[in-house]
Amino acid sequence: LPARIHQVIDHHVTATPDRPALIEDGASLNYRELDRAVKATADALAALGIRAGDRLMIVSENCIALACLLFAAFRLDAWAIVANPRLSPRELDQIRDHSGARRAYFTAGVSKEAAIHASRYGANVQNVGPLHNIAVSALNQGTAPEPVEADPAKQVAVLIYTSGTTGTPKGVMLTHRNLLFSAATTAWFRRMDAHDKVYVVLPISHIVGISLLIMTLMTGGTVQLVSKYDPAALARAITEEGVTILNGVPATYQRLLEYKRVAGLPKLDRGALRLIAVAGAPLDLDLKSRVEQELGLPLLNGYGITECSPGISGVRFDVPRDDHAVGTLLPGIEARIVGLKGAPVSKGQVGELHVRGPNVMCGYYRAPELTAKAIDAEGWFNTGDLARFEGDCLFIVGRTKEMIIRSGFNVYPAEIEAVLSTHDAVVQCAVVGRAVEGNEEVVAFVQLLQGSNTRPEDLMAHIAPQLTSYKRPSEIIVLDALPATSTGKILKHKLAETLRAG
Ligand code: ATP
Repeated sequence: LPARIHQVIDHHVTATPDRPALIEDGASLNYRELDRAVKATADALAALGIRAGDRLMIVSENCIALACLLFAAFRLDAWAIVANPRLSPRELDQIRDHSGARRAYFTAGVSKEAAIHASRYGANVQNVGPLHNIAVSALNQGTAPEPVEADPAKQVAVLIYTSGTTGTPKGVMLTHRNLLFSAATTAWFRRMDAHDKVYVVLPISHIVGISLLIMTLMTGGTVQLVSKYDPAALARAITEEGVTILNGVPATYQRLLEYKRVAGLPKLDRGALRLIAVAGAPLDLDLKSRVEQELGLPLLNGYGITECSPGISGVRFDVPRDDHAVGTLLPGIEARIVGLKGAPVSKGQVGELHVRGPNVMCGYYRAPELTAKAIDAEGWFNTGDLARFEGDCLFIVGRTKEMIIRSGFNVYPAEIEAVLSTHDAVVQCAVVGRAVEGNEEVVAFVQLLQGSNTRPEDLMAHIAPQLTSYKRPSEIIVLDALPATSTGKILKHKLAETLRAG
């Protein structure tokens, strides 16, 4: 592995300079042009006062300018923080204040949302080297740079504020080695090469997006950068534009199928598509089989977490599965199942998943206590997920924090969600606990197909034969839409809050 992330393109600049590296709507850069653009951007950032160890905020949707700013930051040993322009002003300010970022760059020429944040920050539009219309704002002038580490396993490359589906945003420090190791193992797992064209619609502000960018450039392939999800554009990219790899969260696929259904389109021609992967949230088996029928490829489930850069396990494309399995561990990663409160766990039983390897973050920024709670002295990271092994295959059962204890029985929301999702009218659902007089009740929130007149009691009748009584929801609440993050993850803590508020 190279020492620093930006070095992944060096080989391709000499070996295949004319091969397209990045493409976005109407624009593209080959490897030679990318190399020049990154170097010129780095020079411009240095001229604007960015020093090694400075935190640098990039408020941008997926686009070429973002990739250049990111790789320029890596060249300068600055820490990059990519923030999604769809964050609220409050969320963005939290990141600014917590990170002590010294500059913010907004791709105001690309995104309306970024332009709105830019004007709130009083940023001025400038050309940053070869990049046009970047709004730049000086922040936190007095902030000190972090020390530069010669060891790539210690030098932080990106600071990622997790989307906070559990309610507490944390700044995850990922090093050059963390990201390079994770990208290389996933690229190897997928047998990626220079002929791959990877559709990157998951935001680069999120770990999966940034990892896809790095692994594709590492293998000399082409990254198709997509700033906003549009199922019609995705369908076109698959049938007409030669995309070979698609990564999504369940909602990416769910919305593609929904678009096709509403528009009454014929089966999609999958063109050059060779691998479709999904991660980030529990996979609904009904969705999985519908996607597989549509695209004629196995939908490969994978499991990861921001703190692990992100890959932990994945279903291999040559060994597909027809269940909820999240596959085998990626090479170089160790895992163990630990009983809750230290209780012993026998083989195959559910417990908390701890992992160790070169992919584990170096810590949470400015939160040593939180870091010490998450990573023990021997380097084991507690994922906070409940899991079990069947042979060498991993299954995620739920999150420790989300487990509901009803009358002494453990209830895993994911199991109930899987059963609810088998009802034709259910688009999305989420199960949370509600505290009642020393006990916990199971409550389900569902979003139904548009125009459906299914009632909660119909859903109850559908699931009752499939679930033992303590697992059945006490209440099923129908909402027009479930609150979700920009990657489509349901914000369960918001649903739990609405229950607490009565
Ligand atoms: P926070 O850590 O603040 O809650 P987040 O949930 O968005 O934010 P991520 O790192 O994006 O954090 O998500 C990681 C979590 O997503 C895992 O801990 C796990 O619970 C869940 N997850 C990821 N992949 C899968 C999968 N294939 N199946 C089930 N759950 C998954």
